[in-house]
Amino acid sequence: MKMLKSVWIVSRCNIINEMISEKTRQEVYHRDREKCVITDEKKDLERTPHHCFAKSEYFANDKNQSWNLVTIGREPHRFIHFAFTDENVSVGKKAAKMCREIALSRYEGKHKDKLIKIMKSRYGNNFVEN
Ligand SMILES: [Zn+2]
Repeated sequence: MKMLKSVWIVSRCNIINEMISEKTRQEVYHRDREKCVITDEKKDLERTPHHCFAKSEYFANDKNQSWNLVTIGREPHRFIHFAFTDENVSVGKKAAKMCREIALSRYEGKHKDKLIKIMKSRYGNNFVEN
Protein backbone atom coordinates (compact mmCIF):
# COMPACT_ATOMS: atom_id res chain seq x y z
CA MET A 1 0.00 0.00 0.00
CA LYS A 2 2.76 2.43 0.99
CA MET A 3 4.68 1.44 -2.14
CA LEU A 4 1.70 2.19 -4.40
CA LYS A 5 1.28 5.60 -2.80
CA SER A 6 4.96 6.50 -3.29
CA VAL A 7 4.87 5.44 -6.93
CA TRP A 8 1.87 7.69 -7.44
CA ILE A 9 3.59 10.66 -5.78
CA VAL A 10 6.76 10.22 -7.83
CA SER A 11 4.74 9.86 -11.02
CA ARG A 12 2.83 13.02 -10.25
CA CYS A 13 6.07 14.91 -9.59
CA ASN A 14 7.53 13.71 -12.89
CA ILE A 15 4.39 14.67 -14.79
CA ILE A 16 4.54 18.16 -13.28
CA ASN A 17 8.23 18.43 -14.13
CA GLU A 18 7.55 17.54 -17.77
CA MET A 19 5.78 20.90 -18.09
CA ILE A 20 8.96 22.85 -17.31
CA SER A 21 10.56 24.22 -20.46
CA GLU A 22 14.22 23.49 -21.21
CA LYS A 23 14.86 27.25 -21.03
CA THR A 24 13.41 27.46 -17.50
CA ARG A 25 15.29 24.33 -16.44
CA GLN A 26 18.59 25.82 -17.62
CA GLU A 27 17.76 29.13 -15.93
CA VAL A 28 17.08 27.38 -12.59
CA TYR A 29 20.28 25.29 -12.79
CA HIS A 30 22.36 28.32 -13.67
CA ARG A 31 20.85 30.46 -10.89
CA ASP A 32 21.44 27.70 -8.32
CA ARG A 33 25.05 27.29 -9.61
CA GLU A 34 24.29 23.68 -10.47
CA LYS A 35 24.17 22.74 -6.80
CA CYS A 36 21.47 21.16 -4.65
CA VAL A 37 19.83 23.93 -2.59
CA ILE A 38 19.59 21.55 0.39
CA THR A 39 23.02 19.87 0.47
CA ASP A 40 25.02 22.42 -1.55
CA GLU A 41 26.50 19.50 -3.51
CA LYS A 42 26.91 19.11 -7.25
CA LYS A 43 26.59 15.33 -7.36
CA ASP A 44 23.46 13.28 -8.07
CA LEU A 45 21.32 16.22 -9.12
CA GLU A 46 17.86 15.58 -10.47
CA ARG A 47 17.59 16.53 -14.14
CA THR A 48 14.34 18.36 -13.50
CA PRO A 49 13.95 20.90 -10.67
CA HIS A 50 11.65 20.49 -7.67
CA HIS A 51 8.45 22.51 -7.35
CA CYS A 52 8.62 24.24 -3.97
CA PHE A 53 4.91 24.98 -3.85
CA ALA A 54 2.98 22.01 -5.24
CA LYS A 55 0.16 22.21 -7.74
CA SER A 56 -2.25 20.98 -5.05
CA GLU A 57 -1.48 23.86 -2.68
CA TYR A 58 -0.73 26.56 -5.21
CA PHE A 59 -3.25 26.93 -8.02
CA ALA A 60 -1.95 30.04 -9.80
CA ASN A 61 -0.61 29.81 -13.35
CA ASP A 62 2.92 30.87 -12.43
CA LYS A 63 3.78 27.68 -10.56
CA ASN A 64 6.15 26.51 -13.34
CA GLN A 65 8.19 29.70 -13.25
CA SER A 66 11.75 29.67 -11.96
CA TRP A 67 10.95 31.31 -8.59
CA ASN A 68 9.01 28.15 -7.65
CA LEU A 69 11.71 25.75 -8.84
CA VAL A 70 14.94 24.68 -7.18
CA THR A 71 17.85 22.50 -8.22
CA ILE A 72 17.81 19.46 -5.96
CA GLY A 73 19.79 16.28 -5.35
CA ARG A 74 18.22 12.87 -5.78
CA GLU A 75 18.31 11.95 -2.08
CA PRO A 76 16.70 15.06 -0.55
CA HIS A 77 14.16 15.00 -3.38
CA ARG A 78 13.29 11.40 -2.54
CA PHE A 79 12.89 12.30 1.15
CA ILE A 80 10.57 15.19 0.27
CA HIS A 81 8.27 13.05 -1.88
CA PHE A 82 8.46 9.60 -0.36
CA ALA A 83 10.11 8.82 2.93
CA PHE A 84 9.00 5.81 4.95
CA THR A 85 10.94 5.99 8.22
CA ASP A 86 10.19 8.67 10.82
CA GLU A 87 13.73 9.99 10.54
CA ASN A 88 13.51 10.37 6.75
CA VAL A 89 10.07 11.97 6.98
CA SER A 90 11.54 14.57 9.31
CA VAL A 91 14.49 15.21 6.94
CA GLY A 92 12.04 15.47 4.02
CA LYS A 93 9.79 17.92 5.85
CA LYS A 94 12.74 20.16 6.74
CA ALA A 95 13.97 20.07 3.14
CA ALA A 96 10.48 20.88 1.78
CA LYS A 97 10.18 23.80 4.21
CA MET A 98 13.61 25.13 3.16
CA CYS A 99 12.63 24.93 -0.51
CA ARG A 100 9.38 26.82 0.14
CA GLU A 101 11.25 29.50 2.12
CA ILE A 102 13.69 29.93 -0.77
CA ALA A 103 10.81 30.21 -3.26
CA LEU A 104 8.94 32.70 -1.06
CA SER A 105 12.05 34.88 -0.75
CA ARG A 106 12.37 34.96 -4.56
CA TYR A 107 8.71 35.55 -5.30
CA GLU A 108 7.76 39.00 -6.59
CA GLY A 109 4.32 38.30 -8.03
CA LYS A 110 0.81 39.21 -6.95
CA HIS A 111 0.06 36.07 -4.91
CA LYS A 112 2.49 36.71 -2.03
CA ASP A 113 -0.33 36.78 0.53
CA LYS A 114 -1.54 33.40 -0.71
CA LEU A 115 1.95 31.91 -0.33
CA ILE A 116 2.38 33.35 3.17
CA LYS A 117 -1.02 31.88 4.10
CA ILE A 118 0.16 28.44 2.89
CA MET A 119 3.35 28.80 4.97
CA LYS A 120 1.40 29.85 8.09
CA SER A 121 -1.05 26.98 7.74
CA ARG A 122 1.84 24.49 7.41
CA TYR A 123 4.40 25.89 9.85
CA GLY A 124 2.61 28.44 12.01
CA ASN A 125 4.79 31.54 12.26
CA ASN A 126 7.82 29.27 12.35
CA PHE A 127 9.19 30.06 8.92
CA VAL A 128 11.59 32.55 7.40
CA GLU A 129 9.73 35.12 5.34
CA ASN A 130 12.77 36.69 3.65
ZN1 LIG B 1 9.74 17.40 -6.48
